[in-house]
Amino acid sequence: MGFIDSIRGINKNQNEAVEGGDKVEKKDSLDMFCYQCSQTAKGTGCTIRGVCGKEPTVARLQDNLLFAIKGISAYLYHARELGYTDDEVDAFLARGFYSTLTNVNFDAGKFVELALEAGNMNIKTMQLLKKAHIDNYGEPVPTEVPVGAVKGPGIVATGHSLKALEELLKQTEGKGINVYTHSELLPAHGYPGLKKYKHLVGQLGGPWFDQRDTFSKYPVAIVGTSNCVLIPKDEYKERMYTVGVAELPGVQHIEDYDFTPAIEKALELGDLEEEVKETTLTTGFGASTILSLAPKIKELVEAGKIKQFILVGGCDSPLIQAKYYTEFVKNLPDTTVVLTLACGKYRFNAMDLGDIEGVPRLIDIGQCNDAIVAVDVAVALTELFGVGLNELPLTIVLSWMEQKAAAILWSLLALDLKGMYIGPILPGWANDDILNVLVENYDLTPIGDAEEDIKKIMGL
Ligand code: SF4
Ligand code: SF4
Repeated sequence: MGFIDSIRGINKNQNEAVEGGDKVEKKDSLDMFCYQCSQTAKGTGCTIRGVCGKEPTVARLQDNLLFAIKGISAYLYHARELGYTDDEVDAFLARGFYSTLTNVNFDAGKFVELALEAGNMNIKTMQLLKKAHIDNYGEPVPTEVPVGAVKGPGIVATGHSLKALEELLKQTEGKGINVYTHSELLPAHGYPGLKKYKHLVGQLGGPWFDQRDTFSKYPVAIVGTSNCVLIPKDEYKERMYTVGVAELPGVQHIEDYDFTPAIEKALELGDLEEEVKETTLTTGFGASTILSLAPKIKELVEAGKIKQFILVGGCDSPLIQAKYYTEFVKNLPDTTVVLTLACGKYRFNAMDLGDIEGVPRLIDIGQCNDAIVAVDVAVALTELFGVGLNELPLTIVLSWMEQKAAAILWSLLALDLKGMYIGPILPGWANDDILNVLVENYDLTPIGDAEEDIKKIMGL
């Protein structure tokens, strides 16, 4: 039975149970939660099944679709910032949203089809955003980024918007202000059209969730260009600014990319002291750079010197379970090459994994939307080795935090990629029935013990 039929089977069983008068036990966790219409149970929320007849699996799959749509919207928003749009994606978003409206669609299978379609639309959107980035800033090239302060006034920018960073760099040029990246803006350093600004001097801090410490530590102006921004501490909120879609209580919002208030604030705050740079991060591996290594990669794979490519990427999370990703990469044999993207990389991107005869063992492709570069590279490898995607010596170890990762997960499922590992926890929107079907059809595996998982992946 196929994936979609399996899901339809779950839906049917649930209907049969209700129609047959079986008592539905309320579990510790909610089966579902929906309060979108006036029929909602007790005026507060349908939590066991919908008054309208909506089943928990349908409700969860509707939520899943909305999460994937949120993810696509984020990438589409950043493409639109640079003037790139796509009518087919726009039409899909309208259809996807509409399908979750009350009394429109009760078919669980259809919501899986829509999730897979969302995966394909997300691929299209990531391609659009990659094109927008490359057309505007050139293709990234490997770039070393020092982590730490440079003497002088500064502005640190966090989030994902290269457009906002570009405007900030233009407006600060020649003003004696150093601009730093934080979190998911690290890959900006690799783009020729951004690295040309000499006052883009480095990086402060690491992943999104260190921002309260990082922004408290450095008395600079702060610009939040998208997620992940956190409710600011009082001690720095008067020197923080948001732009674009990001907004925070008590924080001034920048309109039309006019960064004058942040620039004035940076100058008023004065100089940072020079820090010793103990860490240098390398980012900016574009598809062209990686594929220029294709003949060497083929030779090394055939000689058994590269045994496995492992994409370890996605969102970082403050959960204790996310330590897995550090342990995982640290313990990989030196016959592996790690591709990475998004802020999950901060779990290991300061490690020196060395190289295999000139092929770096740690390749930072960029932001989460650069998952499309990983897909392009994987497709190129299938051609290089004359095998299908699932026959490649490639394993994907995903970390997820928010809904862009949900969109990327469905993109990878839409490509029919099997055997992915997922963590740091399993998605809360998926009930056991949905998870079982994902495991059965895609061999999706929750992360476990890092060393045991490595043994499994390497066939040891
Ligand atoms: S749409 Fe259905 S499940 Fe949602 S609140 Fe209304 S009756 Fe309940
Ligand atoms: S990769 Fe995910 S968790 Fe990390 S900053 Fe981007 S959206 Fe946030």
